[in-house]
Amino acid sequence: MASVVRGVYHIEVYRALCKACGLCTAWCPQAVLEPDAEGYPLAPGLANCINCKLCERHCPDFAIEVSLAAVEKRA
Ligand code: SF4
Ligand code: SF4
Repeated sequence: MASVVRGVYHIEVYRALCKACGLCTAWCPQAVLEPDAEGYPLAPGLANCINCKLCERHCPDFAIEVSLAAVEKRA
């Protein structure tokens, strides 16, 4: 069985594309996303993201992107 990894992802919301429809928030199975006062998604539950990409796939405007967080290089 594949293991589920949390806590290593970055979520970018492109506000110029986002229309604050709330679909990404509704589809997230981990309750990662919450709308701000204007309806744009924030990610207060980022540590629980499992990179399932349901938010990305259901965004009609390609306005949200999930990626691996940059890992600081240590010498
Ligand atoms: S990738 Fe999955 S778990 Fe992470 S914010 Fe998007 S829908 Fe939620
Ligand atoms: S689904 Fe896309 S357009 Fe709708 S609130 Fe989320 S990021 Fe914005």
